[in-house]
Amino acid sequence: MGIRQSKLVRFSAFVLLLCLVGCDDRPGAARVSQKNAERWVVMYNELSPEEENVIVNKGTEDPFSGEYDDHYEKGVYSCRRCGAELYNSSAKFKSDCGWPSFDDEIAGAVKRLADADGIRTEILCAKCDGHLGHVFTGEGYTDKNIRHCVNSVSMVFKPAIANTERAIFASGCFWGVEYYLGRADGVVSTTVGYIGGNALNPTYEQVCTDTTGHAEAVEVIYDPVKVSYEELAKLFFETHDFTQVNRQGPDIGTQYRSEIFYVNDKQKQTAEKLIAELKKKEYDVATKVTKATKFYNGEDHHQDYYEKNGGSPYCHVYKKIF
Ligand SMILES: [Zn+2]
Repeated sequence: MGIRQSKLVRFSAFVLLLCLVGCDDRPGAARVSQKNAERWVVMYNELSPEEENVIVNKGTEDPFSGEYDDHYEKGVYSCRRCGAELYNSSAKFKSDCGWPSFDDEIAGAVKRLADADGIRTEILCAKCDGHLGHVFTGEGYTDKNIRHCVNSVSMVFKPAIANTERAIFASGCFWGVEYYLGRADGVVSTTVGYIGGNALNPTYEQVCTDTTGHAEAVEVIYDPVKVSYEELAKLFFETHDFTQVNRQGPDIGTQYRSEIFYVNDKQKQTAEKLIAELKKKEYDVATKVTKATKFYNGEDHHQDYYEKNGGSPYCHVYKKIF
């Protein structure tokens, strides 16, 4: 299948260490894995000079000049530099002060610091410390009596989509599965996690013992107007070796099995139709098709792994089949 090609070349010693240690069920394993997790760095988006002036050098955009100053669509505002979600549109209000105003932040997303001017309170992205603006209280604009005065250039707005759908795929190390599915047009968000086992709230270390029955999987939220379930399922098959049983390249164990967890009968029929097509093409398909059970979110440091850490998947490559 060519799936294993060059994976080890890109496989950093650090990732190798993490996998080996993380998949070990000795008592110290979780601690070492956690220690490594703390060292992981956030990958930043490139900034224009104007964005850098505000986000890095704590500048302020001209009042009434920002693209979100007079903007009231439904959706979420994220950090321009690191992508962390900062504010929901439901917290945005019209203040006529010249900058986007919010009376609440997404829990834990915004950090407050005494400003260098000794008077105001600076607000920063809690994840990357990018400068957002300042927060004021007691002005009486809304019931919450708080105004986050945020530079438009510090944020990126993502509109809410009225009717999203959900799909769950397991095909080996969830870092690589998320890498490909997350990049597909029409995919709104992806979450890596565990499904199909017996233990409640499993951790990565527990799943790695190969005794919980869970598969590493990716939950995909997508806009069905832009991408169909069938297109996503084809991408799933085209980015892993679905003939391997309970392994994917160097990763061995039931957690790395190939399995489609359907959330409705239409998804089940689509999955079965594609498997029949593959069998016609004489592939020995190992993929199971199973009704979805509870999906447990994976730990934060496993989410968007390649986005945060750079590089590309060591055991998933794209190969056109359909
Ligand atoms: Zn940030």
